[in-house]
Amino acid sequence: MMVCEKVGTAGSGGVTLVELLVVIAIIAILMAILLPALTMARDRARRAKCQSNLRQLGLGMEMYQNQYEHLPPWLGGDRTWGDRHGWLEKIARLVYRAEKRDLGPPGICVCPAIGRFGFSCNQHHFSSPTEPNYREAKTIIAIYDIGPNFWRTLGRPSEEAYKYETDLSDEYRGKMGFLWWPGVIPPHRRGHNILFSDGHVKWFRRWDDREMTRGPDY
Ligand SMILES: [Zn+2]
Repeated sequence: MMVCEKVGTAGSGGVTLVELLVVIAIIAILMAILLPALTMARDRARRAKCQSNLRQLGLGMEMYQNQYEHLPPWLGGDRTWGDRHGWLEKIARLVYRAEKRDLGPPGICVCPAIGRFGFSCNQHHFSSPTEPNYREAKTIIAIYDIGPNFWRTLGRPSEEAYKYETDLSDEYRGKMGFLWWPGVIPPHRRGHNILFSDGHVKWFRRWDDREMTRGPDY
């Protein structure tokens, strides 16, 4: 009985500084353990949402091909909403119409890791006439997400095309260098999501000759 009373008396003195520090240390350790896991979970969710958006754009690409027997023209309007002649708006509009959704961004036109219009298209793919077996190609890159700082890394616009080919390492020259442009931060854990001509979407950290090409001639 006496022992119990002593413990009770000692406990009524409140929390000591040492106890408080121990609690803070435990919370800090838990945060250190949990934060990377939470960040990874958030990144995985964004990657999955981006892939879903790309699949829907692939669906729109297919719908456009079925309707007009060719892909929408590239015409340079490849990254902004509001350009009705650009490929993005043309195929997104078909998807929105088919799903009876409200028209307009954000939605499927946005890579969630970038937070705004985050997709670009393969100009070679969109500008080429449809050829036999071309549409079925599993390796032809159609649309891909760009790094959040992609446009800032470009210098003077008139030199863009030239820079694309010349600034790249040998590994990427003559391929879809846009994806691994020097200085660009890939949006998804150092990788990009890519939609292929046949509609499948996959995440890549590096160029892979076996699985990707920018067109039938490359
Ligand atoms: Zn993305």
